[in-house]
Amino acid sequence: MVKEVSDITVQKVWDVLNQIPDPDIPVISIVELGIVRNVAVKDNNVEVIITPSYSGCPAMHVFKEDIITTLTNIGAKKVEISITHSLAWTTDWLSNNVKEKLKNYGIAPPEQNSETEVLFSNKKITCPFCSGTYTKRTSQFGSTPCKALWYCNNCQQPFEYFKCY
Ligand SMILES: [Zn+2]
Repeated sequence: MVKEVSDITVQKVWDVLNQIPDPDIPVISIVELGIVRNVAVKDNNVEVIITPSYSGCPAMHVFKEDIITTLTNIGAKKVEISITHSLAWTTDWLSNNVKEKLKNYGIAPPEQNSETEVLFSNKKITCPFCSGTYTKRTSQFGSTPCKALWYCNNCQQPFEYFKCY
């Protein structure tokens, strides 16, 4: 079986990357998360420049594999992944649309405060389920180091809060 392989364009690469879900939060793609910074294509060789969202996030190697597999599937001869830290990833890059998706998924989206502020100011995170603010932090780390565990006293549900960086 011969697969029809057309030339790879930068747009095509963005399109398929935009379908790769974040390993932690499957409702959001790695492009929406702002991890993919740039894409270069030359003679069907693809270079993808990424900025890791959170240092040491265990999901890193998972989506690197995903990127390579996905691009190889659309006919990339060689896939190179470069990492840039030129601009540190920040949750400010998340669009309102993405924050809405997080919330619908049951994760409180990052608010415009740094984690330090949240830690030391008694700031309350809004519950993604009932929008109540009678909440408390139960653990600094949730299922991944990127999230903290909170509990809503209003609707009595635990929820995760996507920390700011
Ligand atoms: Zn609640």
